Parts: sequence; C-alpha cells; structure tokens
Amino acid sequence: MTADLAELDARDPLREFRDLFQLREGLIYLDGNSLGAAPRAAAARVAEVVKEQWGEGLITSWLGADWSTAPQRIGDKIASILGAGPGEIIAADSTSVNIFKALTAALSLRPARSVIVSEATNFPTDVYMMQGIEAFSGGRVRAVTVAPDAVLDRLDDDVAVLLLTQVHYKSGLVRDMAEVTRQAHAKGVLVVWDLSHSAGAIPVDLNGAKADFAVGCGYKFLNGGPGAPAFIFVAERHQAAMPVLSGWFGHASPFAFEEDYRPAAGITRFQCGTPQVLGLAALECGIDLIAQADLAQLRAKSLALGDLFIAQMEARCGEFGFELVSPREPGLRGSQVSYAHPHGYEIVQALKQCDVIGDFRTPDILRFGLTPLYLRYADMVEAAERLREVCLTRAWDKPEYRTRAAVT
Ligand SMILES: *Cc1c(COP(=O)(O)O)cnc(C)c1O
Repeated sequence: MTADLAELDARDPLREFRDLFQLREGLIYLDGNSLGAAPRAAAARVAEVVKEQWGEGLITSWLGADWSTAPQRIGDKIASILGAGPGEIIAADSTSVNIFKALTAALSLRPARSVIVSEATNFPTDVYMMQGIEAFSGGRVRAVTVAPDAVLDRLDDDVAVLLLTQVHYKSGLVRDMAEVTRQAHAKGVLVVWDLSHSAGAIPVDLNGAKADFAVGCGYKFLNGGPGAPAFIFVAERHQAAMPVLSGWFGHASPFAFEEDYRPAAGITRFQCGTPQVLGLAALECGIDLIAQADLAQLRAKSLALGDLFIAQMEARCGEFGFELVSPREPGLRGSQVSYAHPHGYEIVQALKQCDVIGDFRTPDILRFGLTPLYLRYADMVEAAERLREVCLTRAWDKPEYRTRAAVT
C-alpha cells in the first residue's frame, strides 16, 4: 500500500503544483472548499501592489498599473476555465451581491413572470438573497423553495428564474448543468448557476450548457484569498439587461460624471463600484495557477482522491458510525467527501488538534474538501488514520468541543 501510494504521488501529473502553495509540513488541509490555500506568489504580489503601485504610484496606478481593467482581465481568465467567452465574466463584489445582480437581471428579461425558484437546501445566502428581492419588490416577485428533487416539476409559466448551485455545498452532489438548463429553457425559465463549489474544482462548460447567468466565489477552489472578489457570468445574449445595481463603475463613462445612469456596454455594466484592487491582486495569483492546470487531469485526480478517501474511511473508520452523504458514484461527486456523524462537530475540532483541517456544517456533517492542486494520495490515507486515532481514543469527547464557535 505505502509503495503504491508513493508511486501514485510520484506519477501524479499535477504534483508540481503543491510547492506553489504555502502549506506547513505535517498539515493536511481538507478545507480548500471553504478557503483555498495561499499561492506562494500572493504575498509578494500583494506587497508589490501595496508598496509600489499604491505607495509610490498612488492614484496614477489606476491607469499605470492597470487597476481599472483588472476586473475584466481577471474575468476573462476565469472565463477560460469555465467555458465562457471573453467579455462574459467580470470579477467583482461578493457572491451574494452577484446573486442579486443576476436574479434581478433575469427578472427584467422575463417581465411577465414573477417567481424565483430554488431548492430549499441551497446554500443559505442564495435563498436569503431571493427573499430580500421578494421583500423589496412590494408583491411583484415571489421567492419559492422546494425539495431538491422537485425543482424541475415546479417550473411553470409564472417562473422567471431558477437559482441552483451546481455542486451542493454539503453533499457535494453535482447537478447536470446542460440538462437542467435545457429543461428550464423548454419552460421559458432562465437559470442562474452558483458555481461556488465548481469553479476550479470540476470542468465547467457554461456556453456548452447554454447557461444564462452564473456566479461564484474567488476564495474557495480558485485560491483567491479570504474575502476575494467573486465573479459573475452573463451570457453575451443577455448583456443588454439593465443592471439594478447601477453604480458608477458600470456606467458607460464613469469619469464624465453625468447626471443620469447610462450602462456600459457588455459585462462591465455588471460591475457596481470601485474595484477591490488588493483583493483582485491576490485573486489573480490563484486564478493563474488554476489556469495552468489541465482541468481533465484535475478532475481525474480529484475523483481518485475521493475514491481513495472513501475506501480508507471504510477500512480505518468503518466501525465508528460515519455515514457517507456524498455520492459514491464519482461522476456525481464534486471535489469533496462528506459524512454525517452525531458527534461531527466535536470530531472536526479534535481532528484539527491532529493537524487535519476539515469543517463542519450543521446539523451533523463533516466536510472534507479535496483540492487536487495541493493534496497528495498519501494525505488521504494519513487523514483517515488520524481520524481513526481521534475516534479510538475518543479525543473528541471534551467539554470544550461541546460549544460551537462563531465560525464552523
Ligand atoms: C460559499 C458560498 C457562497 C458565499 O457567498 P459570499 O457572498 O461570497 O459570502 C454563496 N453560495 C454558495 C453556494 C457558496 O458555497
């Protein structure tokens, strides 16, 4: 087994990426689906932007250091890994804000329809944003959530837009983007895809799937850093939609300081205010790494890591009551493996003491993110073994693990 593992890691076509990340020896980081590891290039890059571009160049850096075009430039790089065209993605704002932009744009393209549909188990911010739009609309818009399996049946003539996350944040179940989009379009419904757990994790083909809108995080599998700017995709055919967040950086001529809003052409109108220059600098380091990886190799390794982890969990932790909640079938699984366990929260805390970082999602889910750029096959075995130790010694059974922290 050990020899085979060493062989697998030695032959891994992505093995050289690990050194491009800052990762402490001994640590097994299985939380790249929540906050990706730091690309080594990011510290120097951000320092350069602060010391030279900001420190020395001051305001001249908006043009001199290309700050003003970074959202479009980085958006185009993201587009290249998501099957979108140049000018269809912009890096800006948070995922939540971009959900608002995409939903309101979609609603404006379906003025005779009034319902936004999503699944009840979607990531909460997605549903909260729908509810905010409903509350603000004064009765014009209704936000409806249904059981995951009932989504397609709920689409009727009243539904303007369907909001779905492609890879479920808890279970890791992948939805078939092309097929769901096709069925929604057949009912006249537009779709907003949340790619928070897809971008940088699995191959995505937005235009191949005829996607309308999409959003996603910069700080998860794109390794863009804490609070990194998110992105929004608007298919070229929908870019005439009027943005509701009509800020000056989405204006056709921001520095003309005109009295009235006139939208910029193309994706730029889906930017709102001043670009987050420092965050964009770090994000670009993460995107540049992913853009160098072969996404088919990335997917193949991600699934192999998942299969190995599941097998090791069965072999080493089978008697401790973990229930696999991610699909066993690799094709249906994103880049994570999750388990339910009644003591999930405590176990995740105890595991951190053994230098294995995963995370916990209520009510009882232990989530292990598998990031092929910096994890090794050997890490899967070692993580399962350390988890076995935690269970055997009941290291999780401590009073201090019984109260939940503010961030889990
Ligand atoms: C992580 C995540 C978000 C986060 O939204 P932010 O506005 O960036 O905090 C949104 N949606 C999904 C599905 C996520 O997994």
